[in-house]
Amino acid sequence: MNIQENVALAPLTTFKVGGPARYLAQPSTTAEVVEGVQFARARGLPLFVLGGGSNLVISDAGWPGLALKIAISGIDEGNENGKSLFEVGAGEEWDRFVARSVTRNCAGVECLSGIPGSVGGTPVQNVGAYGQEVAETVVSVLTLDLRDGQIRELCSEACGFQYRTSIFNTSERGRFIILRVTYALTPGGPPRMQYADLKKHFAGFQQTPSLTSTREAVRRIRASKAMLITPGDEDCRSAGSFFKNPVLAAEQYEELTRRAAAKSLQVPSYPALDAQRKVSAAWLVEYSGFGKGYRSGQVGISRKHALAIVNRGEAAAADILALKDHIQQRVEELWGIQLEPEPVLVGL
Ligand SMILES: Cc1cc2nc3c(=O)[nH]c(=O)nc-3n(C[C@H](O)[C@H](O)[C@H](O)COP(=O)(O)OP(=O)(O)OC[C@H]3O[C@@H](n4cnc5c(N)ncnc54)[C@H](O)[C@@H]3O)c2cc1C
Repeated sequence: MNIQENVALAPLTTFKVGGPARYLAQPSTTAEVVEGVQFARARGLPLFVLGGGSNLVISDAGWPGLALKIAISGIDEGNENGKSLFEVGAGEEWDRFVARSVTRNCAGVECLSGIPGSVGGTPVQNVGAYGQEVAETVVSVLTLDLRDGQIRELCSEACGFQYRTSIFNTSERGRFIILRVTYALTPGGPPRMQYADLKKHFAGFQQTPSLTSTREAVRRIRASKAMLITPGDEDCRSAGSFFKNPVLAAEQYEELTRRAAAKSLQVPSYPALDAQRKVSAAWLVEYSGFGKGYRSGQVGISRKHALAIVNRGEAAAADILALKDHIQQRVEELWGIQLEPEPVLVGL
């Protein structure tokens, strides 16, 4: 396997920021992943696993060790208990797999159309959008366990999926390299029609929309919010939503609504598990003085989406982090809520 030295990482990310990797390898088989790990271990280098680079802020200093950009490809199809199984290489582009599943008329991931990044990145933060998340369809995740070098297949329950989390970005962070993911989809199933914008798009339709038209609608809605990577649209130079929607306990939620009512405002929120409420992070950002189109030097807020921090062209990672800190500080001052970033901060 070719291992390159001093490779710029910024072009491998959607934010287009960050310094070089000391070494970069792009393993396309399990054996090459193992080889990469051995290379790093033999030299005492820190290891970073890179997918499509769509959920990262890489430090301006770069990565001092080996970046392993997983390039394992392939989509194998099968059937089990009336479900269609898709076993997909971690390096496959996520949206290529979604397109394939829709072509096969299999339901379960159609609302996740247009999310950038790799298949291997999807279990990490339990990718979700428009009323669906991968936790609903992931059957198992094939991994290399860095603790003992064994290949382990984790069932969905073992992945500990919750809202934007799994064991891969919490309790077992850095332990597993994801090699393949198996999804179980429903042949001939109807599309998920839960998300308000999607319902609006199909209002007046007499028949249930097809998976293909649902996929097209999702991609169109995403493009209008710069949530689809569209060449030439500089509002896409982001990592998507920068903050997670806070999930609040009853007292915290009451305190927030009290503060909002004092300003004659209402906070958009949704029920969450265990009598909690999920609150719109976009609203909190917007009502803390960072509306769509906000600009501070080379960074700002997308003109099309209140939750996306964007690189306006020549930003450094430090500029993005300064805006992140500023937003977090203002939101806490005004609303008493600590916003948690969604992207992974690398080398920081
Ligand atoms: C315009 C835009 C829109 C977006 N919309 C959404 C959305 O609607 N919903 C949503 O949930 N996310 C969204 N995202 C965020 C992002 O696309 C997803 O989180 C995506 O799944 C990240 O995958 P990736 O391959 O790019 O991972 P990377 O950004 O490369 O890595 C992210 C993390 O996953 C780890 N990782 C990646 N691959 C592997 C692997 N094979 N094994 C082990 N660890 C791995 C990395 O080490 C890192 O910690 C959006 C991003 C952008 C830029």
